[in-house]
Amino acid sequence: MQRPSSKGRFVRNRQLAEFGTTIFAEMSALAVATGSINLGQGFPDTDGPASLLESAAEAIRAGKGNQYPPGPGVPELRQAVAGHRQRHYGLSYDPDREILITAGATEAIAATMLGLLNPGDEVIALEPYYDSYAATIAMAGARRVPVTLHPPRFELDGDALRRAVTPRTRMLLINSPHNPTGAVLSRAELAVIAAVAIEHDLVVVTDEVYEHLVFDDAVHIPLATLPGMRDRTVSISSAGKTFSVTGWKIGWVMAAPPLLDAVRTAKQFLTFVSGGPFQYAVAGALNTLGADFYTGLRDDLTGKRDLLAAGLTAAGFRVYQPRGTYFITADVAHLADDGLTFCRELPSRCGVVAIPSTVFYDNKAAGASLVRFAFCKQDHVLREAVTRLATLGA
Ligand SMILES: *Cc1c(COP(=O)(O)O)cnc(C)c1O
Repeated sequence: MQRPSSKGRFVRNRQLAEFGTTIFAEMSALAVATGSINLGQGFPDTDGPASLLESAAEAIRAGKGNQYPPGPGVPELRQAVAGHRQRHYGLSYDPDREILITAGATEAIAATMLGLLNPGDEVIALEPYYDSYAATIAMAGARRVPVTLHPPRFELDGDALRRAVTPRTRMLLINSPHNPTGAVLSRAELAVIAAVAIEHDLVVVTDEVYEHLVFDDAVHIPLATLPGMRDRTVSISSAGKTFSVTGWKIGWVMAAPPLLDAVRTAKQFLTFVSGGPFQYAVAGALNTLGADFYTGLRDDLTGKRDLLAAGLTAAGFRVYQPRGTYFITADVAHLADDGLTFCRELPSRCGVVAIPSTVFYDNKAAGASLVRFAFCKQDHVLREAVTRLATLGA
């Protein structure tokens, strides 16, 4: 049922009011003020492959993409995204009708919510969740319904998922590998999601920005590869995390034409287009970087994860070993009253910044004693952080 438009505007304003300021701003300011090592923000402190950086500079000099690129993205990049999806997962997408280039995964998420949801729709999302999910669901006038992932493994509770479905449920919003917990959904968990989606005729949106950041024996399986799922899944990924260029904001959406058309309609009026020269550079990286690159990325991050995990454990944290992403979630119940207090005090106590995971929950109690550390930093930075954290018990 459509609300009268004036009332609808008030509802949206009220719903956005809760997103006034973010903990990231507070913690980053604290990091600067105290000279702390910032393990709060999730971006690498070294840039991606030299060939990628050089090809962006080359594209600018050659006049490629300096003016508005085509609305759906440059054909070279749409073809490269299709080729990557085919090579890695055996999924075929038509670059002209089923792939849309966006201003990072962030715009992809916003355009998907605005393009597919109606006021009053319910979106089931696995919490803790990435902060833009809640905000963009609210912008669409829809309602988020959390299904909580619990430590130590943060695996999906299939019964909780089934119980969350109501007649108003329209969408499942899934993120795997999962920020902030580092959980990677198994084939069995994905099968439960697929069964619920098919039974209730739901659209599934999958945020796969960490698709290449998986460790140990974890494997990223796109939900769209499961039987019956390709044409009801909107898959989202991005170059930022894979190629360590989070400032470039080149993302993409892959979906069957009826879904993609709706997303594209919304995207046109968000940024219209962005990042012309970067689109060419990312196309080149997707086409040319092979197994060596992806294995190297994984090995490098596995070493960083192990370095920080060992340091946190030695400092008295309960560490939940991540199987993907570049975040570690740790429990500070033994070290402080709660995660928020702990994170506000950590910079002055030992010169390190982390994020209290409670900000990623609606069900605040579930994340009260959890904090998130990013380990996508140079080894010497992580070693210094570990040295500082070791003084906590003293
Ligand atoms: C970083 C991140 C994004 C945003 O990706 P961009 O391409 O930088 O916009 C989206 N989802 C998750 C889970 C992320 O961690």
